[in-house]
Amino acid sequence: MTGLPPGLPPGLPPGATIGILGGGQLGRMSALAAAALGYRAHVYAPEPDGPGMQVAAARTVAGYDDAAALAAFAAAVDVVTFEFENVPAATLDTLAPLVPCRPGVEALRIGQDRIREKRFFEAAGLPVGPWREVTDRPGLDAAIAAIGLPAVLKTTRLGYDGRGQAVLRSPADLDPAWDRLHPRPLILEAFIPFEREVSAIAARGADGACVTFDATENRHRDHILDLSLAPAPIPDPVAAAARAHVARLAQALDLVGVLALELFLLPDGRLLANEMAPRPHNSGHWTLDACLHSQFALHVRAVAGLPLPDPHRHHDAVMRNLVGPESHAAWPALAARGDVALHLYGKSDARPGRKMGHATRLLPLGALDSAPDPHGLSPL
Ligand code: AMP
Repeated sequence: MTGLPPGLPPGLPPGATIGILGGGQLGRMSALAAAALGYRAHVYAPEPDGPGMQVAAARTVAGYDDAAALAAFAAAVDVVTFEFENVPAATLDTLAPLVPCRPGVEALRIGQDRIREKRFFEAAGLPVGPWREVTDRPGLDAAIAAIGLPAVLKTTRLGYDGRGQAVLRSPADLDPAWDRLHPRPLILEAFIPFEREVSAIAARGADGACVTFDATENRHRDHILDLSLAPAPIPDPVAAAARAHVARLAQALDLVGVLALELFLLPDGRLLANEMAPRPHNSGHWTLDACLHSQFALHVRAVAGLPLPDPHRHHDAVMRNLVGPESHAAWPALAARGDVALHLYGKSDARPGRKMGHATRLLPLGALDSAPDPHGLSPL
């Protein structure tokens, strides 16, 4: 830390450089938040023109295994963070001796592997549904015998937006699912008959101070997040429990940065942890427009060592992802609306399933609580 007059809080001074591994939309929005706080964002990614690269103050286009490029990156930045959890852990292992990495490699490793994640949730005291590790075909039968059907067979690594998983409803589903997913390491989870999907996001500083955002309800279409409602229209104690779970997890991980936790809400009001992401999360995009301090701003503050204020939500919000060509085509109409904040990610090719942007409709505080059908409040 340099250049700060006495009496100011510790942390990186304006003009410092935040290194961001990954060049996608989360990196873009983090870089913009860094710029708002007077920082420079140096984006490191293999792709030259990703959403993050377009708004970066400095760029490195190189592979995650390029030791020379990583060393030069470490020398050029004051702190490193990452915007997607499939950055190889070895990349952070290379960087960590050279420059502070926040969050550290441990949170990345746990978030990359569903089995480690489940074990960590259990050790941290978070409720999870029944699960078994599956290493061979007889192991799948044994896991089914223990857990029952329906169940969900998932790859333990590199699965996202529903990729790398199969729902098993009858014994006839086992062989096709096995053939498709093995020989990758697998986990079998009980199928959770959830009432809603909910997420909660925490920001935690190096001093252990932790703030949380209002819990969010998330609706998916074709396994991709479609709609987020904030605050989630769920009873207050359930929302408080979701926030407590993510804060507890951030503490157990000793995480510095932002952490998202996805949960299933059962009809009886219980929550089960599904998965975590040690980074800003799609279900927190509404915070850009409905809070004084967004998830990206608090992520930057945490990694830069600045204080973490309460996010101060000033509106209710409905966020819709713009996924693929049809959804993206709505942008001119959305741009014309006064009650909608439009965010486009600068991607040139609107392929099916690709997240092109999002739109957040702001509503007065309390509007979601009193709406007879909150899901009818589509921003589109
Ligand atoms: P995931 O990649 O684990 O977030 O799973 C993607 C989506 O699949 C979730 O958001 C749920 O809608 C659904 N899903 C995943 N796991 C389960 C489960 N064990 N039971 C029921 N639905 C699930």
